[in-house]
Amino acid sequence: MSLTRHFLIRTYGCQMNVHDSEKVANLLHHDGYASASSENDADVLIINTCSIREKAEHRLYSDLGLLRAWKEERSGRVLGVAGCVAQQEGDAILRRFPFVDFAFGPHNLRLVPEMIGAAQQGQRSVRTDEAADLARFDLPERHPAFEGQTPGRAYLTVMEGCDMFCSFCVVPNTRGREISRPAEGIVAEAISLAGRGVREVTLLGQTVNAYGRHDLRRGRAEIAGTVAFAELLGRLDAIEGIERVRYTSPHPIFYDEALIAAHGKLASLCPHVHLPVQSGSDAVLERMRRRYRADDYRALVERLRAARPDLAITTDLIVGFPGETEEDFRRTLALVRDVGFVDSFSFKYSPRPHTSAAELEDVVSPAEAQARLEEIQTLQRGLTLDYHRSRVGQTVPVLVEGGSRRGAGQVSGRDPHHRVVNFSVPREPGPRPGALASLRIVEATPHSLIGELQDSTSPGRAAVKPERRRADGTGRSAAVEG
Ligand code: SF4
Repeated sequence: MSLTRHFLIRTYGCQMNVHDSEKVANLLHHDGYASASSENDADVLIINTCSIREKAEHRLYSDLGLLRAWKEERSGRVLGVAGCVAQQEGDAILRRFPFVDFAFGPHNLRLVPEMIGAAQQGQRSVRTDEAADLARFDLPERHPAFEGQTPGRAYLTVMEGCDMFCSFCVVPNTRGREISRPAEGIVAEAISLAGRGVREVTLLGQTVNAYGRHDLRRGRAEIAGTVAFAELLGRLDAIEGIERVRYTSPHPIFYDEALIAAHGKLASLCPHVHLPVQSGSDAVLERMRRRYRADDYRALVERLRAARPDLAITTDLIVGFPGETEEDFRRTLALVRDVGFVDSFSFKYSPRPHTSAAELEDVVSPAEAQARLEEIQTLQRGLTLDYHRSRVGQTVPVLVEGGSRRGAGQVSGRDPHHRVVNFSVPREPGPRPGALASLRIVEATPHSLIGELQDSTSPGRAAVKPERRRADGTGRSAAVEG
């Protein structure tokens, strides 16, 4: 019988949470654990929670209700709760669910092995203290047994926390104040990832393009080891082996000239930005405390497209925010049409505890919010399909992820514009996950593109320098045409 203990982490929510789970998994590998293939095999189970919407929080409580049986099935099992709900409700969770051993927030990932050890001694713990120092970025390198979600791709934390306090958002309360990681550590991690075959890094931060801003403003960037975000992108672009760089999520007010220009200059910087707008009505944006107007957003999109004409822009939208009139909603529809978002995540507003919007009156009825959600999603489906159709005929480098949902023999990956491309492999062996395959787009569907394999080797960064891209504003990219 194996003496190795196994862990499983169930993750909800955003990329930050996914990456936090990866960090915890890596710590546990370093601590001698192996990953479990199922909950049945797991000795340690951690639920990494999300509190951005009410639905996600309810899911935790129903999960926990079911996990009592899991815990009681085998003695010595350990159950922990992580993430934003644990940060806000850690004590309450331990009171309500006596079989939960520990809860910890996003600042305390490093303490997980310690908390598991304590649980094995029968001690329950809650660790939600905010760590305002840089020590939280000091995590061990990838353990040889650690496998990221997708070969060839990795997340890379550049900053954490948020100082923006949008009126609807719990993040500043759960993830704390903005703190930027020294550039040297980010570059060193990217070099190490490239050495392990990672070709694409996604820089993570709650307001990622605010990276380093406080240090620069206070004249202490040199001491803090931070640089302007555009300069950080330039340093990553220079790393051999890193062929694609993405970043998420930026805030519209933190784009400066250098960052916009970087989109036209850096060969590794992907032609896709997920740029949350939330609403197209100035009145609603003001109540949301977003600090820009709809026309500021339109102007930013124009400047970004002037730098990179084939830029694909996706967004987040909230409908039914308190006080949103029919006219406000029409303004949002107009903005969605004007920008021509390639895709969007749209949600009905739900009030979150400890946010100022939860106090707002003039609530939109659930039926009205639902009707608006359906209308905006119908509009988006049309725009996405139009965009997909505009891509037919192009040849693009696709980073292969693995089997496609479309069925056996189908493989799936992402192109530089972050669109899913499915294709079949005419003969084995096809391109392996993590490889860059050259594909000709032959068909557009509402959710993805269909490609035909040209060959499975990468043309390097798979693009001519952005300065040489066709600047005809058609949204088609000469750069990715073979
Ligand atoms: S910028 Fe606003 S929406 Fe984004 S994490 Fe910060 S408070 Fe939340």
